[in-house]
Amino acid sequence: MSTQELEIQAMPKGLSDLGIETSKQVFWNLHPAQLVEHALQNQEGYLTDTGALMADTGTFTGRSPKDRFVVQDSLTENSVWWGDINIPFSEDNFDKLYGKMINFLKDKQLYIREAYAGADDKYRLNIRVINTLAWHNMFCYNMFLRPTANEIETFENEFTIICAPNFKADPAVDGTRQENFAIINLSKKILLIGGTAYAGEMKKGIFSVLNFLLPHQHGVLSMHCSANVGKKGDTAIFFGLSGTGKTTLSADPNRGLIGDDEHGWNETSVFNFEGGCYAKVIDLSREKEPEIWDAIKFGAIVENTRFYPLTRTVDYGNKEVTENTRTSYPIEHIENAIIPSKADIPKNIFFLTADAFGVIPPISKLNKSQAMYHFISGYTAKVAGTEVGVTEPKTTFSACFGAAFLPLHPTKYAELFGEKMEKHQVNVWLINTGWTGGPYGVGSRMKLKYTRAMITAALNGELDNVSYRKHSVFGVAIPESCPNVPDEVLSPRATWADKEAYDKKARELGAEFIKNFEKYRDFATEDILAGAPKF
Ligand code: ATP
Ligand code: MN
Repeated sequence: MSTQELEIQAMPKGLSDLGIETSKQVFWNLHPAQLVEHALQNQEGYLTDTGALMADTGTFTGRSPKDRFVVQDSLTENSVWWGDINIPFSEDNFDKLYGKMINFLKDKQLYIREAYAGADDKYRLNIRVINTLAWHNMFCYNMFLRPTANEIETFENEFTIICAPNFKADPAVDGTRQENFAIINLSKKILLIGGTAYAGEMKKGIFSVLNFLLPHQHGVLSMHCSANVGKKGDTAIFFGLSGTGKTTLSADPNRGLIGDDEHGWNETSVFNFEGGCYAKVIDLSREKEPEIWDAIKFGAIVENTRFYPLTRTVDYGNKEVTENTRTSYPIEHIENAIIPSKADIPKNIFFLTADAFGVIPPISKLNKSQAMYHFISGYTAKVAGTEVGVTEPKTTFSACFGAAFLPLHPTKYAELFGEKMEKHQVNVWLINTGWTGGPYGVGSRMKLKYTRAMITAALNGELDNVSYRKHSVFGVAIPESCPNVPDEVLSPRATWADKEAYDKKARELGAEFIKNFEKYRDFATEDILAGAPKF
């Protein structure tokens, strides 16, 4: 090894503040070339013909929401929204498990990374990640923001992630549900991950932390959305649950990319929390998604994919491991990325839903009441992949299009969203990237080129002067024409062979919305309720 590399190892930083000691080597802030070399030497993965590193995530090929806990203590007891999403974990059990993990790390080679989240300096969170896998450390290099060499010298850690996939909890004594866990301790500022090598747990863990800190301490709205900006500085944001198209639709050759998944909205701007993208690659083609395709090169990681032997060309159609095959890459891999990743307050907001009923129109315009109602509802169908156990589309309502990552009650975020809606003139659109021509099983997925054309038309103001009609149940305004989209595609009812079956399904879905909204009754004003479906 060169002297230069030896110096890196000898960096005078300790882990004593965390009580961590290891008899093996500790590698601080290695660069991608070094990390790829380590990953290959450690037999963590393979090199593919694009230069991207391929790695498997093991048993877990998605997040495990049932094994995500938040430590319940004086800070969180009365602030966190406890339940199935934020499952309480005792301080005692946390301390014991932490001790066990520290002990586990004693004979492990470690990869440490210093990084930050939040492209707006004012809200930046400094993070230190401790990994046992080199490829995980590279994932963090890709996904979090990368400090400069100078910043590293004076780096002060504010939040620690310890991720040890080979450490397995003993549910009987540790208080976990299974061997795997992701536990957020907001007081001690530690995220503990064990028993799973799904790298997405690290990024979504920090997202949850920011979803606590930003609205709670700073009044900044944190959002599960992608964002891009046009040549005139017109920002668009795309809210949506997993698989609805945030990453795909935010990559647009005519617009600058701000980010594909997590953003904050403060007084003056929208800013990315991350430094990279995490795109689905199942059935990826250059024709349909050229920006993502081209981003897969040296520095990118492809997860759970399979390649053709000998040539090492990735076979994106292969679902042998999972449907949730992914790639992570630094945002700079997208040619028109905006750096630092922030832009003006949005002019257009898109709510993306992958409606498996085939009821929601492919594009419609919402008034303020409907915007609030749909934001709080967060309707979609979960598609196979990102979460353990989801194999076919399943109807879900996830408040604010991201309830799984919200430590506070959804109404906190809805209040902030409502204030911003009141203050700024924003167009809000509902986009169905899901089924058309019938429900899942009968109809088919909306063509990506049509969805792209509808979004482009909305952004270019080409839907400002067309005629609209109201949807019979949802009351949303459906444009009757749109450039580059056949008229009949715009009306979901027209795409169904059996019109009565459509009307029935639309009422059924409307009823599900009403039922789901019951729990927000205390919060909902008359104004918000005016946005509800009627039938
Ligand atoms: P996550 O939160 O898990 O990152 P996401 O919202 O970013 O999810 P994408 O990664 O954009 O979701 O996934 C959308 C997937 O659906 C892509 O694989 C894309 O190719 C596919 N797709 C098919 N039809 C459409 C459509 N009409 N609009 C958008 N995406 C579509
Ligand atoms: Mn995404």
